[in-house]
Amino acid sequence: MLINIQNIHIQPLPSLSDKGIQTDILRLDLVHPVISGNKWFKLKYYIEEARNQGTSCLAGFGGAYSNHIVALAYAAQINGFRSRGFIRGDENTPLSSTLLEAKGYGMELIFIDRNTYRNKEAITHQYHQPGYYWIPEGGYGILGAKGAADILSVTDCSAYSHIICATGTGTMMSGLLLSAQPHQKIIGISVLKNHISIVDEIKALIGQPVGTNFECVHGYDFGGYAKHPEPLLTFMRGLWQQDQLPTDIVYTAKLCYAVKDLIAKHFFPENSKLLLIHSGGLQGNRSLAPGNLPF
Ligand SMILES: *Cc1c(COP(=O)(O)O)cnc(C)c1O
Repeated sequence: MLINIQNIHIQPLPSLSDKGIQTDILRLDLVHPVISGNKWFKLKYYIEEARNQGTSCLAGFGGAYSNHIVALAYAAQINGFRSRGFIRGDENTPLSSTLLEAKGYGMELIFIDRNTYRNKEAITHQYHQPGYYWIPEGGYGILGAKGAADILSVTDCSAYSHIICATGTGTMMSGLLLSAQPHQKIIGISVLKNHISIVDEIKALIGQPVGTNFECVHGYDFGGYAKHPEPLLTFMRGLWQQDQLPTDIVYTAKLCYAVKDLIAKHFFPENSKLLLIHSGGLQGNRSLAPGNLPF
């Protein structure tokens, strides 16, 4: 299935609009069922550069549940590249649905033990072959941020006072910061526990002075990366029933939950207009038992 940029639209979220605050969401998830919206944006300039360099194989890194790895495998396949995924962990455990999917798109998986995995540079040295193009983990790099900067020009977002996204590596948030208008504040909801260094990581990526128009909010990780206790699932079911919005357990459900809670706590000035970014990731819900969610 091809990438459908024209499917992207803004959806109002009445159940997250309260206390004089209007909340809408930009549905990047609709570009493709597997290659989640934000991953597509983050990859596109790497792929362009790979093509310009006459690359034959895209190489990348990720964990067993990495949306980035599946997106990379798919993007490689449709662009005529081979792909190799360097996967954190042990190859003897059964493959996750994410990795099976990546394999289905022709990716060759190489498992790297957790200790070795920490040193990406060493892995790159050890495994590099002519024709390889290495994409940083999670797309974290200037080309990734440049791609994410294009998110806000898919449709007119100028009426919003706040743009709010979930953050993993912070690459998407960096791109949003680069393209936001002066009256807009960018807010990131971290899905990693105590990821306080994210502000420095974003600053390092942007490489130019960033103003005060951004903030990273912590405390909505529900116990840590990919943790999804029952209250989060209950919230996801409610959001589907009230606003027909599908969310994923790793990123977008935590984003929506955080926004609802922050509104209740008067975090946003009255009359704010919030635009959430639905960054995709819905295929990650496949790790739940079937029937757990109504979508
Ligand atoms: C990868 C991912 C993110 C995080 O993006 P970063 O650029 O790493 O911060 C957010 N949402 C979804 C659905 C993702 O798959």
